[in-house]
Parts: sequence; structure tokens; C-alpha cells
Amino acid sequence: MPELPEVETIRRTLKAQILNASITGVEVLWPKSLANITAGELAAAVEGQKVSELCRRGKYLILDIAGSGFLVVHLRMTGRLVVCHRPRPDDHPVDVHTRVIFHLSGPDSESRELHFIDQRKFGRLWWARDEEQLASIVDLGPEPLSDDFTAAYLQEVLSKGRRNIKAILLDQSKIAGLGNIYADESLYLAGIHPARSGSELTEEETGRLWHSIRSALEKAIENGGTTFRDYADGEGRSGRNQDFLQVYGRGGQPCYKCGSRLERIRVAGRGTVFCPRCQI
Ligand SMILES: [Zn+2]
Repeated sequence: MPELPEVETIRRTLKAQILNASITGVEVLWPKSLANITAGELAAAVEGQKVSELCRRGKYLILDIAGSGFLVVHLRMTGRLVVCHRPRPDDHPVDVHTRVIFHLSGPDSESRELHFIDQRKFGRLWWARDEEQLASIVDLGPEPLSDDFTAAYLQEVLSKGRRNIKAILLDQSKIAGLGNIYADESLYLAGIHPARSGSELTEEETGRLWHSIRSALEKAIENGGTTFRDYADGEGRSGRNQDFLQVYGRGGQPCYKCGSRLERIRVAGRGTVFCPRCQI
């Protein structure tokens, strides 16, 4: 599932292709992809309008449709956004898993289409008519790469309740955008066992974890995200960060630091890989 670095990479690569394009039509091939609006309402809201900005909050991609509202996209398991140029080349038919197509007319008046492709159909599109409705749909904790996310904030979040540290890192209402990959990577970098109670971390450990979360995410964005199966950026390219992961997907293999066999356990209901020697 795409997490913060993957969605951020999609935002950056899509932006270059669809910013300031006008939406000339919408085709909804799978109506259940729309969470809170009908196909007809969506068409009425966006047709003739411009994509004036692309933003991201946590794992949500937000298209600012100037003067009309916001199109919110959550890719979940297998969702992808792909730009196709018109006319479509013969060797490039529409993907069988395409759910929604936006017809665009670029600032250079070249025709293109934005395809929402989603094999497993868990991805969703919302429409928000204003900032207030947007805030109720995208209701998340601070962005971990923003100034709002301080070590003091992390300490405060961890000190409440007895949940294990991994469950807290995955809680989108506490920190936006972390999923299974970057929670495991951050805990490994910080040398903290994923099943420990958040409230027992020392200030020094919390500081290390804060730093690790930010560096794991920054490095992944630099590498264009992590591709295990479906993820591709807005230009259809796979990420490169999978080559740099320390623990995620490496259960049973040796730790790069100490050579111990990495263990796979279940924490917070999720498969979790950690080093039994480096993470205490
Ligand atoms: Zn180790």
C-alpha cells in the first residue's frame, strides 16, 4: 500500500503533467470508487474547471479544482493514477482495471487523460465542496516532515495510554502517512522493539525515534518510493527505495548491522520484521 513517500512521489510527478489542465469530461467505469458523490454530481462539479494545485496530506492526494472544490484520492492497496496522452497509441489500450477517467485539456491544449486504475477496488475518491468538508474527510495528525511534528509532540503522543509503539505509529490520527513499511524501518533505525509500550520510552529513545521517522521518510522520497508490487509514480516508473530497506520484507534474512536473523512477528495486527539483537 502506498505510504507517505509513495503518495508524495506521485504528487510531484503528476503535478508536472496535469497542473493548470482543464477537465473536459469524466467517465466513471466503476461507481463504487466514488465514496460520497454520484458520477453525475462529480461531472457537474469538475467539468470546465481547472486543476489549480496538487497537495498531499498523509496518504491522501488532493486535487484543488479551482473555484469548485477538492477531489480527494486514497489509493489504498492497488490504486494508481496514470496520465495517458490522446489519442491513445494503438499499443496502449485502457487498462482493464481502470475505474475513473478524467479527460483533460492541457495548458498547451494537448489532450490527455488521467486514469484512476485500481485492481482490488479498495481505493476511493471523495469530493469536498470546501475546506471545511475537506478537513472532515482528511482528518489526520500532523505531517511527520512538517515543523508541527516535534520530538515533544511525539513524546506527548507516546506517553498516553498503553498501546505498543507500532500501533501508535500506524495511527493516522496521531501521525499522518506512516504505514507498515516505514513504521518497521523507523523502529529499526531507532533500535526500538516494535512491541514495547509507547509510554515506557525514555526521552532519549523518543528523540531517536523522531529522527528515524523523518530520515526514513526523507530517504524514501529521495528514492522515488518503495515498489513491491503495484506502486508506480505519476509517470509509470517504479520506486527505488526497496533496494535500501533494512527490515521490511526481509524476515529470516541477516541484519545488515549485526548479522542476526531478522524475526517476523505480529504486532498491532500487522506482520512486523525486526532485529532481536539491535532492537530492544
Ligand atoms: Zn541487528
